[in-house]
Amino acid sequence: MQLTETTAYRRLPLDVVGAEDCELILADGTRVLDLYGGHCVNSLGAGHPGLGAALAEQWRTLSFVTNLLDHAPRRAFHEAFASNLPTSEGGWQVFCTNSGAEANENAVKVSLAVSQRVRVVTFNGAFHGRTAAATALSDTAAPGFPMNPFEVVRLPWGDTRAAEAAIDESVGAVMLEPIQSLAGVVEPPAGFLEALRAACDRSGAALIFDEVQTGSGRLGQPWAAQHFGVVPDLFTTAKGAGAGFPIGLTVVRGTWGDRIEPGLLGSTFGGGPLALRAACEVAKAVASAGFLENVRATSTALRAASLRGPVRSVRGAGLLLGLELRPGLRAADVRDALLERGILTGTCNDPSILRLSPPLTLGPRDAQRFGEAFEALATVEV
Ligand code: PLP
Repeated sequence: MQLTETTAYRRLPLDVVGAEDCELILADGTRVLDLYGGHCVNSLGAGHPGLGAALAEQWRTLSFVTNLLDHAPRRAFHEAFASNLPTSEGGWQVFCTNSGAEANENAVKVSLAVSQRVRVVTFNGAFHGRTAAATALSDTAAPGFPMNPFEVVRLPWGDTRAAEAAIDESVGAVMLEPIQSLAGVVEPPAGFLEALRAACDRSGAALIFDEVQTGSGRLGQPWAAQHFGVVPDLFTTAKGAGAGFPIGLTVVRGTWGDRIEPGLLGSTFGGGPLALRAACEVAKAVASAGFLENVRATSTALRAASLRGPVRSVRGAGLLLGLELRPGLRAADVRDALLERGILTGTCNDPSILRLSPPLTLGPRDAQRFGEAFEALATVEV
């Protein structure tokens, strides 16, 4: 019997045999500086020894138990996760799944069930995952599903007037990435998030932040709510929240969570001891002295290192950066040229933007290494 992969991914020509912190190790022993970080997944770097030990210990102590029973890793996770949350009267509630798409599906499900409405507002450029509801909310050329599971209103990103007009009492949820990553690390224009917050307050719609990429310290604050000063009704996260261990989290303000009927939500694996042990370690790391300061310092160093050669400007925040290339240059070509110099970077839907989403443990000195490779590119035709 033959087994091959589906055509889902076009893979880069690297034979990876290992990874250590911010470096990939190739079969020939070469080390590649990973500024992609599994796009935002390796928040603590690859193979973090503390996380490895915690997971091994957790596996031996309690590898899995049904969600019908409580367990110590869940209680420890609640305590660590709570310490990074934005202030909200009534506190927060969390529902655990295994991926970003699931976290988003459940956020929308809660919003529509609680508001008793059927319409969701989303934005051009959005990406929220590949399951049915997440696809319906994403701006994708290949939706794959024959119809949407609810009414979708798609608005131009950053258009406050259009949003204010559309978010009326028929809308149950407004979903967005606080910084649109796949679209090209596109930040919200000044005042946009505040306007969405006010429109949702007026209409009774839930404001949902998809923090699958921007969360867990990525922007130099625990969550986008603290970075932008706008607190959503629900937010979701995944990727870096488990630092490589699959997890999805739907985090709900108590005022919404209190109105969830029992039976609405459920997951077999979500909230298992291993995933919550991993998420607990990440939350503790994000809260630890110097962690977010390092994200901010490395962000500054990476920005400085990037502003040369093929780059015209840098956008984004913390360690989610988009490098806007000079006219005529393609991000895929610059990525390939950097890869030949031992640096892995990412592309996105905008072909003129090179994307950086490295481990949050990357240091300012690694930025120097990136700058030197970039300097060399200035003299090379990419
Ligand atoms: N939301 C955002 C912003 C994402 O970037 C992604 C994945 O890239 C998802 C949701 C979906 O996450 P997952 O692939 O874990 O389902």
